[in-house]
Amino acid sequence: MTQEEVLEIFKKSNALLEGHFLLTSGLHSDRYLQCALVLRHPEQALALGAALAAKLLALTEKPDFVIAPAIGGILVAHEVARAAGVPALFAERQDGALILRRGFEIRPGEKAWVVEDVVTTGGSTKETMNVVTKAGGVVLAAGSLIDRSGGLADPGVPLAALAVLNVPTFTAEKCPLCKAGSQAVKPGSRS
Ligand code: ZN
Repeated sequence: MTQEEVLEIFKKSNALLEGHFLLTSGLHSDRYLQCALVLRHPEQALALGAALAAKLLALTEKPDFVIAPAIGGILVAHEVARAAGVPALFAERQDGALILRRGFEIRPGEKAWVVEDVVTTGGSTKETMNVVTKAGGVVLAAGSLIDRSGGLADPGVPLAALAVLNVPTFTAEKCPLCKAGSQAVKPGSRS
């Protein structure tokens, strides 16, 4: 699957909007990504997961499991794991820190791919990697459907993404779209 084909699926699902957006962080941006809108279609989730698994398999051996940070990464881990024929785990936040719950276990020496829907800074990928390594596991590679860091995220292991986007964000004061006279809208507040 090429980057163009991936972005076409996103646009078709209204998961990649272009305009002038007020993000939950308070920053402004000219694009808005909402992977849940792509992943709500199981056949799209299946195809994207298979494509990401193929990219990861080109970088590393097959892992023992795939793991993602909840909630955004759960479906991605599930579909990548389906393609690789291994289990899918997820880590979730408790008191701010990502941990394994629900009886999920990582045994020492087990190898993992860490995946996400979108990598923005790589912060939650790194946090999920720490969950694996603290349990004695080994992270072979990281992957995401979209890398919106423009390729700047560096988790310290090979990183695969189906599409790389450079999506700048601005404070309201510095936003060129505001300067041009348009008003930022919350994503989803216009049809
Ligand atoms: Zn603005």
